[in-house]
Amino acid sequence: MIILQNYIDGKFISPIGGRYLDNHNPATGQVYGKIPDSGPEDVDAAVQAATAAFPAWAAMPPEQRHDILRGISDGILANLDRLAEAESLDSGKTITTARTVDIPRAALNFKFFATALLHFASESHQMPGVISYTLRQPLGVVGGISPWNLPLYLFTWKVAPALAAGNCVIGKPSEVTPYTAYLLGEICNAAGLPPGVFNIVHGLGPRAGEAIVRHPQIKAVSFTGSTRAGAEIARIAAPMFKKLSLELGGKNPNLIFADCDYERMLQTTVGSSFNNQGQICLCGSRIYVERPIYEKFKNDFVAAVNNMKLGDPADPASRLGAVVSKLHFDKVLSYIELAKQEGGTILCGGHQIQLSGPLADGWYIAPTVVEGLPLECRTNQEEIFGPVVTLQPFDTDDEALALANGVPYGLSSTVWTNNLARTQRFATELQAGIVWVNCWLLRDLRTPFGGVKQSGVGREGGWEAMRFFTETKNVTVVG
Ligand code: NAD
Repeated sequence: MIILQNYIDGKFISPIGGRYLDNHNPATGQVYGKIPDSGPEDVDAAVQAATAAFPAWAAMPPEQRHDILRGISDGILANLDRLAEAESLDSGKTITTARTVDIPRAALNFKFFATALLHFASESHQMPGVISYTLRQPLGVVGGISPWNLPLYLFTWKVAPALAAGNCVIGKPSEVTPYTAYLLGEICNAAGLPPGVFNIVHGLGPRAGEAIVRHPQIKAVSFTGSTRAGAEIARIAAPMFKKLSLELGGKNPNLIFADCDYERMLQTTVGSSFNNQGQICLCGSRIYVERPIYEKFKNDFVAAVNNMKLGDPADPASRLGAVVSKLHFDKVLSYIELAKQEGGTILCGGHQIQLSGPLADGWYIAPTVVEGLPLECRTNQEEIFGPVVTLQPFDTDDEALALANGVPYGLSSTVWTNNLARTQRFATELQAGIVWVNCWLLRDLRTPFGGVKQSGVGREGGWEAMRFFTETKNVTVVG
């Protein structure tokens, strides 16, 4: 049994109420640990530690703050194998994904923002005899709440810029995947992060998460998760006039035109559909293909999907592992049943996979491709967030745009074409915060990241994140 603790004021401590939650291994379906079921009193203890630590952290010379954050980045890389194993154990993702994507990106988040803080500057404006300049000051104590699909990757995507901008942070990782965030506390101590600057409170969303949102001393909340929880957080935080960044759900279109670079598109589309068991907010779950290549694409895509090896997440040869929880497993299977009821044809997958031995009770779902469903049906409108995609042909650019934009979400979209005029039109008219052309999930951390419509409010990444975690003040001086 691995028993996790909260990380408050640089120390690992039990939740004040003494309550714990079970932590499951999705590969086996078995409980392998306990995590604190923290409440408002734990959040308050963390906030008091953070408040005490804030003045010295905010006043620390940038070079020194850089060195500490860079040390955390180095510490993550030095613990790559341990963290990758923990991430895979906790989430069911393959060890290969954790080792090559999640953990390196978590290290990069700290490295990137350690550097950013050295270059963060503000504007000045002049009139004759008058100079106005902008101060961008840290907010104080801020909250970061993250989901289970890319646990350490998304947790550090919030924590690193918040710390870089001079804030103290109360972080709450998902209760479904808390293990690597717990290990991050050890790495922060080893890197010399002063006690209280960063605190981690584990627990459930409606208890520990909501206590962060409600706490009057927490000035801003950066949240990544479901649209449902984002709406609840906004409802609580808006009357308190807190700064809010909400990165929410998606139902992303993947638009494939006949003039694309076919082999590159095919290979990338298999990944953009099923990497991390389809549990990436940026996965393209609605695949629209121009009619002249629809049948060829369908056959090649299904053949490639059938070739993906689903197996033990700890086996480096596995391309697909388990989905994250029993709750999510049941949800995804119920959407597959819904797709059938709505008249969809299952081209491959469509069922659970039972592995043998200790993995017999794990939560595995075959990658599933459905065709024959209209845009308006629930399968095509609601976020499934699992290894399920739908296929549909289209005939014109106008039709492709209407299909892409015809959902309540607007996180990312992918366009495969070599037609420049079409690229420009789609880049302008797609209702999404991110448009990838002839690529997918190609991230430059300096670029703005976020969604429109029900996919969220605000942007992360680069200066957007540094600005979010600072308050802007104008000073006008007449000399
Ligand atoms: P979730 O909303 O259930 O939980 C996310 C986090 O919020 C968890 O830490 C949870 O404990 C907490 N939480 C839940 N309810 C809360 C409340 N009322 N108050 C405060 N905190 C609360 O989401 P999930 O199931 O963990 O993650 C999957 C969702 O995240 C999907 O919708 C996916 O699209 C989305 N997501 C979005 C992005 C993005 O960048 N837009 C990235 C990854 C995941």
